[in-house]
Amino acid sequence: MKAEIPEVVSAADVTSWSHEVDVLVIGLGVSGGCAAVEAAEAGANVLVLERSAVSGGTSALAGGHFYLGGGTAVQQATGHEDSAAEMEKYLTAVSREPEPDKIHAYCVDSVDHFNWLESLGFQFERTYYPEKAVIQPQTQGLMFTGNEKVWPYNTMAKPAPRGHKVPVPGDTGGAKLVTDLLVKRLEALKVPIEYEVGARQLVVDDGRVVGVAWKRLQESGFIKAKAVVIAAGGFVMNEEMVAEYVPQFGSKFYTLGNTYDDGLGIRMGMSVGGAVKHMDQPFITAPVYPPSRLLTGLVVNKEGKRFVAEDSYHSRTSGYVMDQPDAAAFLIVDEAHMERPDFPLCPFIDGWETVAEMEAALGIPVGNLQATLDEYNANAAKKEDPLFHKGAEWLEPQDNGPWGAFDMSLGKALYSGFTIGGLATSVDAEVLDAAGNAIPGLYAAGAGAANLVQDSKGYASGSQLGEGSYFGRRAGRHAAALT
Ligand SMILES: Cc1cc2nc3c(=O)[nH]c(=O)nc-3n(C[C@H](O)[C@H](O)[C@H](O)COP(=O)(O)OP(=O)(O)OC[C@H]3O[C@@H](n4cnc5c(N)ncnc54)[C@H](O)[C@@H]3O)c2cc1C
Repeated sequence: MKAEIPEVVSAADVTSWSHEVDVLVIGLGVSGGCAAVEAAEAGANVLVLERSAVSGGTSALAGGHFYLGGGTAVQQATGHEDSAAEMEKYLTAVSREPEPDKIHAYCVDSVDHFNWLESLGFQFERTYYPEKAVIQPQTQGLMFTGNEKVWPYNTMAKPAPRGHKVPVPGDTGGAKLVTDLLVKRLEALKVPIEYEVGARQLVVDDGRVVGVAWKRLQESGFIKAKAVVIAAGGFVMNEEMVAEYVPQFGSKFYTLGNTYDDGLGIRMGMSVGGAVKHMDQPFITAPVYPPSRLLTGLVVNKEGKRFVAEDSYHSRTSGYVMDQPDAAAFLIVDEAHMERPDFPLCPFIDGWETVAEMEAALGIPVGNLQATLDEYNANAAKKEDPLFHKGAEWLEPQDNGPWGAFDMSLGKALYSGFTIGGLATSVDAEVLDAAGNAIPGLYAAGAGAANLVQDSKGYASGSQLGEGSYFGRRAGRHAAALT
C-alpha cells in the first residue's frame, strides 16, 4: 500500500457533480457518525460516504471504552468524585504537547458528551470494576483505564476512574453498539449513506475545499460540498506509512485496525496543506496483567535495571519498553507471586533456583539483577519505591526463590497497536496548515486527527473513542454553521 499524497483536483476542471450537499462526511465510524448526526441536527444537508459495505470501521471492533469524566452519572452513582478541572489537569499532564483549548473543551463538556452518547439509546451501567485489568470482563460501567493513580500523575491531579465501557461483555466489538445507534439516528434524520464509495481526492477552489472525487468499483465522480469532514480513520494498515513514520514498529506487532486504516484521509488532508502531528507515535501494548498479582514483580531491561513503575497502565509500560536497548525487557517474579496468565501475551521464559542462573539465562551482566533485586526488596519491605514510586499496594519483596521471568521484549511478546498521529486540527476540528491557519472548508476528527493523547505512555483506554466522538460532533456543528 502506497504512502503517496493524492493529487488535488481543481474545481475548474470538474464538468459535472454527482451530488451537491452542505456537509460531506468521509467515513462512518464513531467520528464520522457523530459529525454527520450533529451537522444534520443543525439543519445542514449532509451526505456520508463509506468505503466499506458496512458501517462502523475500526470503531465497531473496539472494546468500547470512552474516556469521560468530570462527574458523569456513572462516576456519581459509584461514589467517585471527579471534576472537569481535575480531568483537565490529568490530561494536560499526560499529553506530550498539550493543546490547552482542546483539553479544556473536552473536559468541561465531558458530562454533556456522556449524556449525549446515552441519548443515542443506551446506558452505561452504573457499576464500578475495582480490579487492575485491561477492560472490564463483563458490563461494569467504569474502571481506571489510565495512569491516574500512578506517580507522578497522582500528585498532579486527583485520581478518578474515567474508563466508561458500553454495556457489552467481552473485550472487542462493544462499540458497535454505538456505531449502530449512530446509523439509526442518521436514518431517522434521513441522512443518505453511500456505501462502497471511497473518497479519493479533494476538490479545491481558490484555496477552499469544495468537494471530493469519489470511486465505487468502476464508477467515479465528484461531489460538491460547502464543507468536508475527514473521518476516515488512521494509518496502521499502510505498511509504507508505518515504515516511514513509525519505523520502530517494524513488523513485530499485531495491527489493531480495519483494512481501510490506510491513511488515505490523512493524506488527502496533507494534499491541501494540512499539517500532521505525532505521526511517529503509536499506541503499543502487550499487557502482563491480568493476573494483576504479577504487577508485584519487577520489570527490568537487559542491563537488569528497572525503568518504569510496574503498576503503570499497560501501554505506558510498553512505551517505556520500546525505549530500552533492543526494546528488550523482562518481568521477574518470585515463587510466592507467580501466577500464570490465561492469555500469556508476554511468554513465560523459565524458572531458576538462583538469581545468578536467571541473570546468565537472560543475558544480563553478572550481578546487575541481584543488585536491582536487593535494592527493590529492601525498599518494598518498607512499602517504598524511591526510584519509581510504585503504589504501595503493589510493593512486595520478590525474595522467595525460585524466580521466573516473562519476556516483554518486542518480537517475543505479542505487541499490538495502532497509530496515534494525524492531521493538526483546531478545537472545532478545522484542519490546520503548518502556520496554524484553518484550511477553509476542511475538518478532521477521529484516528486521522491529532488530538489530546499523543503517545503510548500517556494513552488511556477510551481516549480514541472519546476524542473521536467529541471532536466529530464539534466538526459537524462547525461545518453546518458554514452553510
Ligand atoms: C480491537 C480494538 C479495540 C479498541 N478498543 C478501544 C476502546 O475500547 N476505546 C478506544 O477509545 N479506542 C479503542 N480502539 C481504537 C479505536 O477503535 C479507534 O481509534 C477509533 O474507533 C477510530 O475511530 P474513527 O471514527 O476515527 O475511525 P473508524 O471507526 O475506523 O471509521 C473510519 C471509517 O472510514 C472509512 N473510510 C476510510 N477511508 C475512506 C475513504 N477514503 N472514503 C470513505 N470512507 C473511508 C472506513 O471504512 C471506516 O468505516 C480499539 C481498536 C481496536 C482495533
